[in-house]
Amino acid sequence: MMRADNAMSTVDGNVLAGMLAGVLDGDATTLVGVCAGCGAAAALAETVVEIDETCAIVRCRSCTHTLLTVLRDGEGVRIVLGMLRELRRGAL
Ligand SMILES: [Zn+2]
Repeated sequence: MMRADNAMSTVDGNVLAGMLAGVLDGDATTLVGVCAGCGAAAALAETVVEIDETCAIVRCRSCTHTLLTVLRDGEGVRIVLGMLRELRRGAL
């Protein structure tokens, strides 16, 4: 059966390991996040964070929408995504 060179293939999520490592490995505060609320792009280090013992609410510095929340509880640490549209390693 002929297939166009640009056809999508369907595989399981293991294929993501290398691709995600390219974004998530290294210092997370240098990752650039894009806000779905206002479109601002900024390094996570430049966001505004409200923090207590159990959570860190990460807000867009431009529009104050919650980009993501980092929760720390008995089950460990987890990230709840909010208005974070894009997360990338590299230039603004
Ligand atoms: Zn924003």
